[in-house]
Amino acid sequence: MNIVIFGPPGAGKGTQSNFIANKFQLHQLSTGDLLRKEIKDKTKLGNEISSIINSGNLVSNQIVSDLIEKYISNSIYKDRLIFDGYPRNLSQAKNLNTLLIKYDQQIDMVLKLSVSLKTIVKRISDRKNLEKRADDNEDIAIKRFQMYEKNIDPVISFYKETNLLKVVNGETSISEISNEISRLIEGIKG
Ligand code: AMP
Repeated sequence: MNIVIFGPPGAGKGTQSNFIANKFQLHQLSTGDLLRKEIKDKTKLGNEISSIINSGNLVSNQIVSDLIEKYISNSIYKDRLIFDGYPRNLSQAKNLNTLLIKYDQQIDMVLKLSVSLKTIVKRISDRKNLEKRADDNEDIAIKRFQMYEKNIDPVISFYKETNLLKVVNGETSISEISNEISRLIEGIKG
């Protein structure tokens, strides 16, 4: 089973992906985490992308595609991936399908966490104190939310057509959201 989870920054994608990964023995593939690791390790790529990430912009489709292909092509993770933060635009959604077909896989469910901008701003200011992410401040949070909104509509339409999309209310508590997601996944596992 491969799952895609998306939602605006601060929607709880990371928390819920981690929960799903543990409960259903999947591997959480967070493009944001992979990119932040490159920055932390001061790799050549990390140096190139740090200012892009810190200003709330998206890095190039090619960079993230190369990162995720390493996992999709690895048999250890075959049919065990949860994509957290990818795709973020239509081009990435199409690319993900192409990559999965190349490695004889498919997406089984797409989860969209719906959360308002008001809630996002509050959560991001709370998270700032805990995680100290350079891109977690109110102005950048609003910019990241707008960036998400600008790109995501065609992705939603793309997945609606394939009947894979499930919308989850991301305004409720962490455990309520986890329960709802579990119910949906158990539904497709049969
Ligand atoms: P996240 O942890 O998912 O909020 O991602 C943090 C930042 O990493 C984003 O604001 C982007 O700058 C970058 N990023 C993560 N995933 C992608 C992606 N799929 N495409 C482009 N940039 C991404």
